[in-house]
Amino acid sequence: MEMPGPTTLKMEANVLVMGADNVGKSEFIYSHNLTVDGREILFHIWDVPSSQEQAEEGSSEEKRIQWADCFVLVYSICDRASFNILPLKIQFIKAAKEGQSQEKVPIVIVGNKRDLHHQRVVSSEEGRLLALSLDCGFYEVSAAEAYHGALMVFHGLAERIPDTKLALKKGTGIRGIVKTMSAVFARKRTDSL
Ligand code: GDP
Ligand code: MG
Repeated sequence: MEMPGPTTLKMEANVLVMGADNVGKSEFIYSHNLTVDGREILFHIWDVPSSQEQAEEGSSEEKRIQWADCFVLVYSICDRASFNILPLKIQFIKAAKEGQSQEKVPIVIVGNKRDLHHQRVVSSEEGRLLALSLDCGFYEVSAAEAYHGALMVFHGLAERIPDTKLALKKGTGIRGIVKTMSAVFARKRTDSL
């Protein structure tokens, strides 16, 4: 990670953490502020219990999806059902977000509870293939065991967010200047982890 310098761009991104109950979503709400490639990104994280999702009308989920700039889809490697619900959720997100613009929506799939390998029922390969087929990032982590896991996920997310998608933090300048600076300091982000 880089130290915030004078050229650091302060930005914000809204993150929706989705997935079945009990997969470890709440472990991801603790990473807030990251500096990646000269961009200091403040993540606003919204973790919705899936029981709440089901109880609500579809329009509420639609609203949350519209609010979000990027998505973390969590399953447990010990819970097949939590994995199986992801393709539909991701297709729903893509339909809702990509209908409006040509830009790819930043989505990272997370296979959590990697430490419980004796109870594993979803292989790493399956996770990786799903992510590949839906053009998402993929990480297997133990969110509750190591802070590093969540950090990796947010780094991966940051790399998938184009500068133009990041709202400027209030009071730090003019958007046009940031866009210009982004262009000047833009570099390939996919090779930084
Ligand atoms: P949520 O319902 O998706 O928000 O799940 P929680 O974050 O509340 O986690 C559900 C349970 O799984 C809790 O008891 C956590 O301590 C546990 N948990 C979360 N992540 C991990 C992990 O990486 N490894 C293990 N062994 N347990 C975890
Ligand atoms: Mg929770």
